[in-house]
Amino acid sequence: MTNSTLGDMDCATFREAGHRLVEWIADYFDHPERYPVLSQLAPGDVLLGLAPQPPEAGSSMEAILDEFDRVLVPGLTHWNHPGFFAYFAISASGPGILADFLSSALNQQAMLWRTSPAATELEERSLDWLRQLLRLPAEFEGVIYDTASVSTLHALAAAREASVPEVRARGIAARPDVPAVSVYCSEQAHSSVDKAVILLGFGHEALRRLPTDEAFRLRPEALARAIADDRRAGRLPLAVVATTGTTSTTSVDPVPAIADICEAEGLWLHVDAAYGGPAALVPGWEWVLDGAGRADSVVVNPHKWLFTPFDLSAFYCRRMDVVRAAFSLVPEYLRTSETGTVKNLMDTGIQLGRRFRALKLWMVLRFFGTDGVRARLAEHMRLARLFASWVDAHTDFERVAPVPMSVVCFRARPEAVAGDEGALDAFNQQLLDAVNASGEVFLSHTKLHGRLVLRLAVGNLRTTQDHVARAWALLQMHAQRLAGLPLSR
Ligand SMILES: *Cc1c(COP(=O)(O)O)cnc(C)c1O
Repeated sequence: MTNSTLGDMDCATFREAGHRLVEWIADYFDHPERYPVLSQLAPGDVLLGLAPQPPEAGSSMEAILDEFDRVLVPGLTHWNHPGFFAYFAISASGPGILADFLSSALNQQAMLWRTSPAATELEERSLDWLRQLLRLPAEFEGVIYDTASVSTLHALAAAREASVPEVRARGIAARPDVPAVSVYCSEQAHSSVDKAVILLGFGHEALRRLPTDEAFRLRPEALARAIADDRRAGRLPLAVVATTGTTSTTSVDPVPAIADICEAEGLWLHVDAAYGGPAALVPGWEWVLDGAGRADSVVVNPHKWLFTPFDLSAFYCRRMDVVRAAFSLVPEYLRTSETGTVKNLMDTGIQLGRRFRALKLWMVLRFFGTDGVRARLAEHMRLARLFASWVDAHTDFERVAPVPMSVVCFRARPEAVAGDEGALDAFNQQLLDAVNASGEVFLSHTKLHGRLVLRLAVGNLRTTQDHVARAWALLQMHAQRLAGLPLSR
């Protein structure tokens, strides 16, 4: 049955293809290790498999799904693979996937309360559940954006609105009366902070990336000094972005001390807890969000370490009125009789339309329950500490950062190359390439103090201790093999 008649796919075809897809997905999750975790294709291979011209006639779903299997599946890097330890390992959990499926079917466009009361109010309720779990005060109102990058952009736009509101109308170009602004973060902060200052017109030079301590945390004294220097130079300090769970090492900035400075200086404090926030749900890890309740805004990514399929970023703000002042703009055709009595989500950001993303957060929290989420997060942190203990005990490996959450930064340090930093970097790059070529595991790297460092991130729901042990066995095996080869740099 092709789509040569008018109207949508008929329901019988939908049922048949839908059942086939559900079977495919269930089978995929039954045997995730059937596929190499890192796609083994070369650049351009997928393109070669796809017709260069658009299709003139329609095709059967059977033919389309066959092509998906044949051409696209080999080009997938499997984020759901239990051997995925790169970047931040994430999971598309069953309840989240089902919610996304339903969300696409319902096609809610929640710009206004009346265009989807359910999406609007479920967003409010599910974000408030998460707020309570994170122990943020009740003044924090939440909104869902796609990514943490966009959340941080909105935070800094709100900081601008709070500090120089006339910019909304008059801009900052050709304005000798508006001083250059400064935004502060640590050298370990995420690149989304750079992109936000660039996009907001502050200029990349407005971002002060400050040095960190021995555990890669922002130094409050350095922050205080930078603010004082900037004020003396006639600049306008605007905001600080503190990170709880930095992207390289998951270090946690001292938010209480930073909040003291922001309060004294009148600066907007944004806490980037994109990855680390969920850790605070685990008994004993509440400290991860210490001081976050004093911030102006906080971002946490359920799509990172809360088992929600990409994408869903939770942005919390204690001054959402400022976000609305920065972004609200209601054209005549979107005015409704409820204006003023209901929440219209289009007022809280740059996007007009929005997906029904709350459905997946709600289903994930309902399905696993807080206890289930906590148990899984705690297990990921246990596995990371276990791996770290193996690294610590091995003479040819060293750990290069503390392990506050579920990421271990380490590197091989075999006797033969130990004295030569350049050779050590080359050795670790070869080691990384070798274990990743196995198809069994996928690790990524970072740079700390200018040196190449390997990262093992635990965060996938299907990862067990056996998978972590396998990664360790592969690392040791390839390190031993490479150490026996003549050195190449
Ligand atoms: C991953 C990450 C981001 C960016 O997340 P996106 O949702 O992909 O934009 C920002 N900050 C930190 C600390 C992160 O770990």
